[in-house]
Amino acid sequence: MKASQFFISTLKEAPAEAEVVSQKLMMRAGYIKRLGAGIYTYMPIGLRVIRKVENVIREEMVRAGAVELLMPVVQPAELWQESGRWDKMGPEMLRVKDRHDRDFILQPTSEEVITDIARQELRSYRQLPRNFFHIQTKFRDERRPRFGVMRGREFTMKDAYSFDRNAEAAVKSYEAMYAAYCRIFERLGLTYRAVAADTGAIGGALSHEFQVIADTGEDALVYCPTSDYAANIELAEALPLIATRGAATQALVKTPTPGKSTCADVAQLLSIPLERTVKSLVLATDEKTEAGDVTKTTVWLLLVRGDHDLNEVKANKVPGLNQGFRFATVGEIESHFGTKPGYLGPVGLKQPVKIVADRTVANMSDFVVGANEVDFHITGVNWGRDLPEPDLVADLRNVVEGDPSPDGKGVLAIQRGIEVGHVFNLGTVYSKPLNATYLDENGKPQLMEMGCYGIGVTRILGAAIEQNNDERGIIWPAAMAPFELVLCPIGYDRSADVQAAADKLYGELQALGVDVILDNRGERPGAMFADWELVGVPHRVVLGDRGLKDGQVEYQGRRDAQAESVPLAGIVDFVK
Ligand code: ATP
Ligand code: MG
Ligand code: MG
Ligand code: MG
Repeated sequence: MKASQFFISTLKEAPAEAEVVSQKLMMRAGYIKRLGAGIYTYMPIGLRVIRKVENVIREEMVRAGAVELLMPVVQPAELWQESGRWDKMGPEMLRVKDRHDRDFILQPTSEEVITDIARQELRSYRQLPRNFFHIQTKFRDERRPRFGVMRGREFTMKDAYSFDRNAEAAVKSYEAMYAAYCRIFERLGLTYRAVAADTGAIGGALSHEFQVIADTGEDALVYCPTSDYAANIELAEALPLIATRGAATQALVKTPTPGKSTCADVAQLLSIPLERTVKSLVLATDEKTEAGDVTKTTVWLLLVRGDHDLNEVKANKVPGLNQGFRFATVGEIESHFGTKPGYLGPVGLKQPVKIVADRTVANMSDFVVGANEVDFHITGVNWGRDLPEPDLVADLRNVVEGDPSPDGKGVLAIQRGIEVGHVFNLGTVYSKPLNATYLDENGKPQLMEMGCYGIGVTRILGAAIEQNNDERGIIWPAAMAPFELVLCPIGYDRSADVQAAADKLYGELQALGVDVILDNRGERPGAMFADWELVGVPHRVVLGDRGLKDGQVEYQGRRDAQAESVPLAGIVDFVK
């Protein structure tokens, strides 16, 4: 590629709205252009990186036996109604109507469509296992789009879906995807960690997130440096909260001081900072006599960030959390709060009852602002209302770091991460409602066992930059760099020798399959070098009259402190 035929457009300053370094650098270096909140144009140089990431992913998916197809972005509502997700998905799913007033969605993911394909196409056990994937635009109307492509509303995802004869085979498919993901993130040159993740409402047994380690990550990871234990905080939060919930258990059975604000008592009983209870303890209610004396306090627990905990707790699997503690059913909560409609308002639940059981909110800030009623719920528990968003990681560092790991093989540590991939064993969650069956050896219909596997293609760009940058700009890992090498001739338009040498070297490198760009724009050396350092090209070769006279050019790797002189004759071998 010659720069004159390409499009390079860099900025001195990042736009004011850019919050994190990757977003600043991507905007300054001309990789993306903002069109609206969470909506970006991938500029020519950005698209090159996306294509490289996609190709690594594609190669590894195919190597792992997956087959590529392409499912539509616009999907009819009927399938989503059939699976039940038309009602379950909140405002994150964008719904649109066509001219006939029919409902459609812009796909946030594609389980429904692929399951529909599977039930039509995969009829016999002989056709299984099967894994389909696509790399396609997604739309999620994120509550808080931010950090550029890392949390966009429109973004590109690779999503794969496996279909198997039985649970055992499905685990094999899962493992194959897990291994493929490791290869993908290794090839992309990312420092990452696979962590056990919350299976949430789906309730499957197996789920892992692939997290790129970065301090700017929105996720918190708990891991043990001396063993394999690693979990997303949503799953691991049972750890710090055991003490909390143990105390809450006590609080439930104590009769509070009549007439006093018993919620404050509860807080005291818990004897831990309230911010740490925030994820589980949401409110306490008092039953009063006509005279206003409190006779009983009930602590309502919403396990907002970890339904997995809920399941584990229900199954009695969480040590230290059992006696005196009882989970209310949705019906109970409904009838309790249903009789006091005014009650839920102040507490501020957007979707009053479903939250508890169906995990439709991801975190506390999904609760809308509401008044704090004395005696009815504890103040200072609602993030974004009367509490700043807590620094989960800092909080957990205090609580968890140094504690023994659950596997007994060391102590726990905390780290921040960016979720770039997610593998999920789904069981029959989709095949059942959509009745996706195949005929087994005996001609009997059986439900297909499924798995789904996502990678945030565009998010990877941001994550890679968070890990690889310096004061001069981006430092791309080789596998995703927009160009592997830039040729910077000094005085390309003034010196026939320089031009001839640069053109020749350009041709040789191209013939060798090096992804090279020749900067023939005629920029001054300082501006030219600054541009390519900002853009983040891993290798730079500078050709000038002076060096060429001695048969020398200058080579500098993007991480090198200094350039070195290399004989022109040997440069091709040198960079290869
Ligand atoms: P998050 O927890 O960050 O919201 P998610 O768990 O909702 O992500 P998944 O449904 O697991 O996302 O989707 C698979 C992958 O798609 C994620 O691992 C992530 O890399 C990517 N992804 C999800 N949401 C976005 C987004 N808004 N912008 C860019 N990439 C995204
Ligand atoms: Mg999400
Ligand atoms: Mg997630
Ligand atoms: Mg996920």
